[in-house]
Amino acid sequence: MIPEERLKLRRLLLVVDDQKINRDLLTTILGNEFDLIYACGGQEAMDQVMLHKDMLSAVLLDLVMPEMDGFAVMDLMKADEDLARIPILVLTAEKTAELEALGRGASGFIPKPFESHEIILARVRSFVELAEGRRLIHAAECDPVTGLYTKEFFFSYASQIERFHPDWKMAEIALRISRYRLLGELYGQEFLDLISRHLAQRLLENVQAANGICARASQDTYYLFLQEGRVGSKEIKRLQKDLNSLREHLDLRLEAGICDIDRAEMNLRRRFGCAEAACGMVERDHADLVIVYDSKLHEKQLYRQRLINDLPRAIAEHELKVYYQPKYDITGDKPVMNAAEALVRWQHPEFGMIPPGDFIPLFESNGLIGRVDMYVWEESARQLREWKEQFRDAFDLTLSVNVSSMDIHMPGLEEKLTRLVDTYGIRPGELHLELTESAYMEDAQLMLDVTKHLRGMGFRVEMDDFGSGYSSLNMLSKLPVDVLKMDMMFVRSLSEENTREYRFIEIVHDIARMLEIPMIAEGVETAAQLELLRQIGCEYIQGYYFSPPVPAEKFGQLIQAQIEN
Ligand code: C2E
Ligand code: CA
Ligand code: CA
Repeated sequence: MIPEERLKLRRLLLVVDDQKINRDLLTTILGNEFDLIYACGGQEAMDQVMLHKDMLSAVLLDLVMPEMDGFAVMDLMKADEDLARIPILVLTAEKTAELEALGRGASGFIPKPFESHEIILARVRSFVELAEGRRLIHAAECDPVTGLYTKEFFFSYASQIERFHPDWKMAEIALRISRYRLLGELYGQEFLDLISRHLAQRLLENVQAANGICARASQDTYYLFLQEGRVGSKEIKRLQKDLNSLREHLDLRLEAGICDIDRAEMNLRRRFGCAEAACGMVERDHADLVIVYDSKLHEKQLYRQRLINDLPRAIAEHELKVYYQPKYDITGDKPVMNAAEALVRWQHPEFGMIPPGDFIPLFESNGLIGRVDMYVWEESARQLREWKEQFRDAFDLTLSVNVSSMDIHMPGLEEKLTRLVDTYGIRPGELHLELTESAYMEDAQLMLDVTKHLRGMGFRVEMDDFGSGYSSLNMLSKLPVDVLKMDMMFVRSLSEENTREYRFIEIVHDIARMLEIPMIAEGVETAAQLELLRQIGCEYIQGYYFSPPVPAEKFGQLIQAQIEN
């Protein structure tokens, strides 16, 4: 039983007395404040105790009853480990019986006949509270490995600190050993226990110095509730170094989260939940080992959670909007628009227009991206079909859609794409798939297989963000792609003065030439950039210089203008 939660509940008392008048009297006295259950004799009392043992705050026990008396009940309860901890208040008229009752395990008395109601109520109340305080100490179950408090006891204790010292400024800190399971696989459970004990020892020293408490909240996670001081990256790094000294080449990493949210806004458990969540936000490179979870981060988390919750509705209600950004062929005298990239936005009823940067990475991290992408692919295919009907032979258009690296693992990806082009009566070659370069590094073989297969089916594959990753030359030569789409960062710093960037782009273009495929430069914003890219021999241009991504209707007008041009 968790004392903290108990305190909020109405406590449950068992009243055992064979006389109805006494049971009624006690009901009148205690019924407003406590939940009561009753027994008229010893055996019935035992049945009730067994039934409610986890919930009972105390037993009010009459000594003199026919058949099984109060002493017998006490003996049975004291003999049972579970029941022995339930306090017993003896109801008795005989002074002489008190001593014997105490000897057999009673914790207190209520003399009969019942005196002033207030006194009895006060007595039961203080008695229950006292017993509960004692139970709290007994419940001090410690983690057997480290000897630190368990999570539950830690929370009971911490909430008492809060209750009795509302003016103390406490810090809620969670600390986690990262990749704990992996360390276990590498070095075995015994070594994990050694690490845990070592860490616990360090934490205890810390906690004593800082006036606080700490717990092992789970296998790999520790909680600290400290009155003084914050824990910064420096302290955690020192701790980490200390642990790593336990074994050569041990690459143990710690992650810490601190909750910086007001007590008034969140209860203790949730604040520690936030501190723990912050541990998970320590970046993989472990540059900063401590993340502070403040109300700003909390807002952000809530926002992200909202987006996750709202996604099914967004898809059902067509809140996702596909915009189209034209791509221009600049190999001729005049730039010719003949392709576009589909880029998604979210017209959210509450948050307004949300850019993809807010939700694409989020959905990539939790596996929902496939649903967004499928929607965008379908909408793009439908739209392409519509434009084809509208403009007939006057215009040739290919659309590219983004394919997240997560999508590669989508079951039946090839069938889904085939079904799309079939449904909307477009050729696979009219649908380009933009795959980001980094995807080729995550799972190179799978990526190569899937792209080969897709190309075999007639789809065209563009390698997006090329230059942002680290494809090896060896890998490049085998790449089954149709277009190199150079990462925007190269163009951003391209200017007449910047000869280094110019050279870089030339090299990228050389690679494209070696692969015998065209190159697209995106993020082109100025006429000067366009001119330089043309000099280098870049075949396609995408960027604000020509047009930002626009809604379908507006893009239809761009096509119309292109035809009339
Ligand atoms: P991306 O695929 O590299 O798309 C290009 C981004 O650059 C787009 O941002 C586009 O609006 C922006 N951009 C275009 N021209 C210029 C320019 O001249 N200057 C600058 N500064 N930016 C320009 P957007 O639309 O915000 O999309 C951001 C990213 O979100 C995309 O980067 C892509 O990775 C992802 N994304 C967008 N739509 C989808 C989608 O349907 N599925 C998936 N998986 N990802 C998507
Ligand atoms: Ca793209
Ligand atoms: Ca890109």
